[in-house]
Amino acid sequence: MSRKPPAPPSERSAWHVVAPFARYDRSTEYTMLVPTSTIHAKEMGTLTTACGQRSDSWFKFWAEDFPMPGAEPCRDCWHVVRSTPRR
Ligand SMILES: [Zn+2]
Repeated sequence: MSRKPPAPPSERSAWHVVAPFARYDRSTEYTMLVPTSTIHAKEMGTLTTACGQRSDSWFKFWAEDFPMPGAEPCRDCWHVVRSTPRR
């Protein structure tokens, strides 16, 4: 029997959003965490952002693909994300 590697999640990029500053938006029925600063891209399982910054203490937006609407993306991260082929 041949074993296949785990299939990557389709239709999603490997990058999710992290941001040093965020706030909780309670204006809707569901409390949402929204970034209030430049957002950066981070790969699952790494400690640093695509632009090389430590993001341990930053807010993580696991469900958001980078870039996300309504937030200013880090230009360095964006460059890395755009030049990285999807897996
Ligand atoms: Zn960045």
